[in-house]
Amino acid sequence: MKITLLGTGGPRPDPERHGPAVLVSTAASAVLVDAGRGVATQLVRAGRPLADLDAIFLTHHHYDHISGLGDLLMAAWNEGRTRPLPILGPAGTRSILAALFDQVYAADIRFRIREAETRGEFMPHPSEVFVAQDVHDRAAFEYEGVGVLARRVDHGDALGLTEAEWSAFGYRMQADGASAAVSGDAVACPGLEALADGVDVLVMCCYLAAQEIDSEDTEFLATRVIASAPQVGEIAARSGTRMLVLTHFRQKPAALIRSMVDLAAEDFPGSVIAGEDLLVLDV
Ligand SMILES: [Zn+2]
Repeated sequence: MKITLLGTGGPRPDPERHGPAVLVSTAASAVLVDAGRGVATQLVRAGRPLADLDAIFLTHHHYDHISGLGDLLMAAWNEGRTRPLPILGPAGTRSILAALFDQVYAADIRFRIREAETRGEFMPHPSEVFVAQDVHDRAAFEYEGVGVLARRVDHGDALGLTEAEWSAFGYRMQADGASAAVSGDAVACPGLEALADGVDVLVMCCYLAAQEIDSEDTEFLATRVIASAPQVGEIAARSGTRMLVLTHFRQKPAALIRSMVDLAAEDFPGSVIAGEDLLVLDV
């Protein structure tokens, strides 16, 4: 199993990092988790044809995790993808795809279908190619030998939104006798614990360095919304994983990233890696 970090940044545009996206692949399959800013370009840089994907899982609907989705789907469609591609995510994923194809890109889709017709070719409507499916806690999937388990994770549950209004997932992947968990955005919670239990590699959000947690707002963010440097080492140590890969950084200098790795390594005996765009891990 290969894990390719396509984007390791966050909501703030960062010249060094694209938006969150992780590709989990084997010789026979390619499953994408999240579709952040620039994901289509990053897939091309990683040498993966857009038409290759077997499934896309979304962890949640924060814009930084889905801002590259429309671009990716339209580009794959424009390059001739006709094989159905499931897009799975929290409740509301269907509405996002409907908005993209029925509203945002409706005129473009009309144009390209008409253009194909004038050449005597048939182009299916993208809504027939990209099929949205809402995910629920403990749902399990299998795509070309990659097993995927979804678990609900706590990413701002303290804000009190209902399940229909907001939910977030992490995903555990199993293939070729190896396992990996992608936390999505989350703080320590039972779902994340279950996902990460005993995996070979834990790809974990790590948004703020300790030095950035300096106000009530950042404290709330770090403890109730998205794990930050002081937490991730403990989460990894409890999981029993061999390797912790940090990702989803708020834009910051390299020295702060190094301090996050050092802090995580204080609690965690395995190896800690600071994620970088296009880093490939063989698991
Ligand atoms: Zn988020």
